Amino acid sequence: APGPGEGTGLCESLEDGGSARTERARGLASEPAAAADDTHSSSFFSRKARPAPWSAAHLGSLNPEQAEAVRFSGGPLLIVAGPGTGKTLTLTCRIAHLIEERGVPAERILAVTFTQRAAREMEDRLQGLLGAGPHNDLSVRVRTFHALGAEILRDAGPSLGIPRDFFILGEEDYARLLVRAVPALSRKEADGLLERISREKRNLRYPGDAAEPPGVRGFVHAYERYESVLKEYRALDYDDLVSLPVRLMSRRPDFADAIRGQFSAICVDEYQDVSPAQYRLLRLLAEGTGDLCVIGDPHQAIYGFRGASPAYFLQFERDYPEGKSVRLVRNYRSSANILCASVGMLTAGLAGDRVPSLAPAEAEGPKVHVGELASEKAEAVFIARTIERLMGGTDSLSLYAGVVAGHEGPVCGSFGDIAVLFRLKALGPGIEQALEHQGIPYRSAGRGDRVRSREGRSLLALLRCLKDPGDRMAFEQIQAEIKGRPEDMREQIERYRQLRFRKDVPVRDAVEGLAELDWIPLEEEAWREAWEAIGRISASFGDDWDGFLRSLMLSRDTDLLERRSERVTLATLHAAKGLEFPVVFIVGCEDLLLPCRIGVQETDLRETDLEEERRLFYVGMTRACRLLYLTWARSRFLHGERRVSQPSRFLADVPRQRVTLIRQERKAAGKRRAADPQMSLFKLPT
Ligand code: ATP
Ligand code: MG
Repeated sequence: APGPGEGTGLCESLEDGGSARTERARGLASEPAAAADDTHSSSFFSRKARPAPWSAAHLGSLNPEQAEAVRFSGGPLLIVAGPGTGKTLTLTCRIAHLIEERGVPAERILAVTFTQRAAREMEDRLQGLLGAGPHNDLSVRVRTFHALGAEILRDAGPSLGIPRDFFILGEEDYARLLVRAVPALSRKEADGLLERISREKRNLRYPGDAAEPPGVRGFVHAYERYESVLKEYRALDYDDLVSLPVRLMSRRPDFADAIRGQFSAICVDEYQDVSPAQYRLLRLLAEGTGDLCVIGDPHQAIYGFRGASPAYFLQFERDYPEGKSVRLVRNYRSSANILCASVGMLTAGLAGDRVPSLAPAEAEGPKVHVGELASEKAEAVFIARTIERLMGGTDSLSLYAGVVAGHEGPVCGSFGDIAVLFRLKALGPGIEQALEHQGIPYRSAGRGDRVRSREGRSLLALLRCLKDPGDRMAFEQIQAEIKGRPEDMREQIERYRQLRFRKDVPVRDAVEGLAELDWIPLEEEAWREAWEAIGRISASFGDDWDGFLRSLMLSRDTDLLERRSERVTLATLHAAKGLEFPVVFIVGCEDLLLPCRIGVQETDLRETDLEEERRLFYVGMTRACRLLYLTWARSRFLHGERRVSQPSRFLADVPRQRVTLIRQERKAAGKRRAADPQMSLFKLPT
């Protein structure tokens, strides 16, 4: 029997004309498609409008399954559904319904997301629904697992010997601390051990419970030393934030009860990606509440490599036999072409009975563009120019003929409507360069992340020192990066603190004021950029210093902390989960990158990894609402090497009839053409 979220593959059957399922598929797909058509005329490419404040009438705008999920109050609830079917929408409506119709106090509702970006998105949606605004705080507690854990530890940690003012390590600090703990380690050995330590923690094993793994001598010793250095610095690492609360709650039932007592309802988005520690934490939290609602899609599970397991998702019905599950099958996000291309690609790698049930609610739309480019440079230029054309509205190239039939003016309203996604962070800088060259504004997760740069981290350390002069780790960090006499620095920091730093001073003002410290070389570009990036993020925190510092400490992709803006989003496929954009480019659709097997022999690529990589590609494709571009380069310079590449095997699985091919011609033999890949080199195949 098909598992949750799996069924007859409506999208697939739309492809194959005569099958018995086709009629059903058409029946489902046709009626909303007609309705969707007229929404396209003026705002074909613009983001969907935010919903109006919650009223009972809202239920009428949801489809019957969504409305049922919003209303259900008889116990644990599982919502299983594919991308764009309104899971997150249903979850936010459910929260609004709990508050407005069932009288649950907002502050007793906990909504858990995986990334801070997703938390922001959910807060925004809830704010729209609940009419909260800057002066009317949202009291629903929307938290990532890590932020929730950090809060639990702040409240209750001291009983486990964890200081209340603990510091959360940045990824960059881990190896430094481990090498300090075990000086004989090389950086490479340290990285290997850290990966193992992380895995142990995610499985809730601390040094006392960890066994020496075969072939890794000295592991337990290193783990113990690492833990004691963390203690010395009053620091926790990222995994601790989830694993320690589980320890705390399992060992101290009195605390567990107190923590549980704070919540009347718990909602979890993207449940397919929970790790063993996160799963335990949720079970412990949900014990007291009858009202648990989890949503997810096993076909979008992409964190297996970090120990997450969709098995927890699939065992929900066993964990909560009194619970109920609801399925959603209508996709409201993507045009039918994009949806069917995505589902077709996914299903090519699945056994017949595991095909997702998804029917398009949107019109056909333009086909998916698959672009073959000569090199990574040509690819980046192609993307920058395409974005320019989409925004400029001057386009008359055949490339877009038919894409926006009858559409005049720019096809894209805002740079914020566009995302460029890639498998590895290393692909980001090349795209950034091309966008910069073309004067296109972007925000970028990962390498281009100014806040995570050395300079950015020093500035953050400085802000931490301002807030807490006793923060040793922060001061050491500043000293390591900035040349200056420690006494002078200390004195200046203290003076600045007394002069400028009050509890109610807006974070942004304090960040601006850093310019007064003359040993910070803000005239240097890297420093200035980091300073400006932190300034931009600080703007939305008012005088909430704790929130600001915590957000930055908790974040792995700080640039995405900025609210949606008038910039193109650059992100990894992983970071794009849960988001949607009218226009999406996925770059580097090549054999080495998707599935990613840089440094892995073909023979070592396990079947499970392959499946996960396919799901990751599926997640990427299904972010797109209107236009989707999949590009690959025949040759790519990556990690210090130029390699010849073939198209990703996943591209071959995208149903041909949903695709328009774009190809940059090969250079004619013997003749050298200009390196600049002009658009005229692109030809549409007949
Ligand atoms: P993902 O798995 O990618 O996270 P999701 O299931 O959470 O997707 P949402 O982001 O909640 O999907 O919804 C996708 C889009 O569809 C949103 O723009 C949402 O507003 C829209 N949508 C959802 N349900 C409906 C509906 N009943 N009518 C109109 N639009 C809808
Ligand atoms: Mg979602």
